[in-house]
Amino acid sequence: MTRKTDECLRPWDAFIAPTERIDLARASGRIAASTIRQYPPGIPEIIPGTQYSPDVIKSLESAHAAQAKIIGINMAADRKVDVLKDLGRQAEKLDIQVFESRSIDGSTSDEIADFFRTSFSAAPYYHFAFHESEPLDSLPPTLDFEAYAVSIALTDPEKRKTCQDALRSVAYEKAVHANASADLSSIILPKGFHLWTDKALCRKHIKDRLSDPGYVTLVRHKDTGKLLGLLHSRMGTVRRIFQSEEWSDPLLFSTYSDAKKLADAKQFFEKVDYHFGLKPNDPIMTISAQVLAPEIQGGDVFYQMIKPMAELISPQHAALPLLSEISLHGTAHVLNTSFTDRIVFGVLKNTHPLVYCSQMNQALFLFTSEKKHWHHALRKAARENLEYRKQYFISHHTDNKHVKVRPNGPLGLAVFAIKDIPAKTRIAVFRGETYRSTSAVNLPEIMRDHAIQVGPEEFVFGYKGLAHCLCHSCDPNCGIRNLTEIFTIRDIAAGEQLSWDYRCSENSDWVLETCLCGSERCTGTVKNFDSLPREIKAEYLAKSMVSEWIRENI
Ligand SMILES: [Zn+2]
Repeated sequence: MTRKTDECLRPWDAFIAPTERIDLARASGRIAASTIRQYPPGIPEIIPGTQYSPDVIKSLESAHAAQAKIIGINMAADRKVDVLKDLGRQAEKLDIQVFESRSIDGSTSDEIADFFRTSFSAAPYYHFAFHESEPLDSLPPTLDFEAYAVSIALTDPEKRKTCQDALRSVAYEKAVHANASADLSSIILPKGFHLWTDKALCRKHIKDRLSDPGYVTLVRHKDTGKLLGLLHSRMGTVRRIFQSEEWSDPLLFSTYSDAKKLADAKQFFEKVDYHFGLKPNDPIMTISAQVLAPEIQGGDVFYQMIKPMAELISPQHAALPLLSEISLHGTAHVLNTSFTDRIVFGVLKNTHPLVYCSQMNQALFLFTSEKKHWHHALRKAARENLEYRKQYFISHHTDNKHVKVRPNGPLGLAVFAIKDIPAKTRIAVFRGETYRSTSAVNLPEIMRDHAIQVGPEEFVFGYKGLAHCLCHSCDPNCGIRNLTEIFTIRDIAAGEQLSWDYRCSENSDWVLETCLCGSERCTGTVKNFDSLPREIKAEYLAKSMVSEWIRENI
């Protein structure tokens, strides 16, 4: 067989490069991203990294005419092939360089900070002016904006304060990067409002971030040298990155006191632990592309930026878990569907989803193999993952062969027997971290209804478990033994829902206002063990279905 193609790229480089699907008829001169072969004998006509020539196209046409089986293209239908994207003139204009972030000098660091500031201030603004004559409710109640500038010209201090408070609450609700214009110098806005417009503060922030290990890719215009965008990877702990990233900014919107700020930070770490199992001191990597100039935005440029950075990242670094934020407004953050293990909304107060991937290297490779425009993929992933929690429960925690987790109307997820289960069979065990609290009501919101009490001031919380899907019933067929183990108290037939009486472990201030168990013994409101009628207590104790800690404290 004669060689009809020229190899232009290594197959691997071609495989991971951005690609597009085009008609075979237009493929001449383009570099293949996939293999096409005749079978038999199975020898490829073209492989990734080689160039389509008129000969290759002719050969495929005649093979098709001779009714040969061709794999890798549907000759009878669309006749499309995968080829590398033509990066064209856009790429030629760009100068892309990678630096170790700690080696960036002071003037470049300032340049990056100024780039941030100008980019943010170039965001679309909605200007609002408030004057004495204007009613305060002229503040638009619902706005879809990323930033706005405000002018307030009120001499009445009382009225001005009300106006500021209203602004704060709108800003907080919408979690905007609001920007105070120069004539607002006399007005004190919360810190978050002008974080990115204060030159000195912004420079300080960027210097601080660059002091962490990591890499920065800078994209400049080849002729003018103008900075157009950057990509930053950082290695640090969850705490370190949270505190120095603008992730904490949205929290500042609600910060009127340090105590509030501390509480917010605490909640952030609890949520990150809850969603991703990451503790504040766990090492992580983050990666984000920042404010690519509008004229160069897109997956191709991103690909060019990330490739040299990826080559520098050591295997050790690449094995770190990755955490990043996706902006729903389309600023350039860097993740995509194929490598995001989990995407969670609401971890950050600005409602941008935070994304987790178990390994950085996985992220990089899979990113580059993604065919779709990354930006589009992100939004799609974000939308699809709104229901993440439910899916996560269902897909991960049905490892017990006797049962199945499925939604059950207003009860939410419930556990059903799929086989007959004899009495005294272990069904599930609560696993998780132990939290100390004098009250269930004071537990963080996310764990309030999912924690199990294991001592007078101790609660176990870990959402990843079958145990957490078991519903309460005032007439249960399961009980609890030791502190965390749910077991059947009688024989159970296939198809029956499994449930236990939450009061068998709970003796705190936790209250379930309206019980939906529907049993004849239903008490309506469900409180703690002490609230149970004497005869039910006696029955539960006799059946040894009450948590050890309650039995010891009677
Ligand atoms: Zn009930």
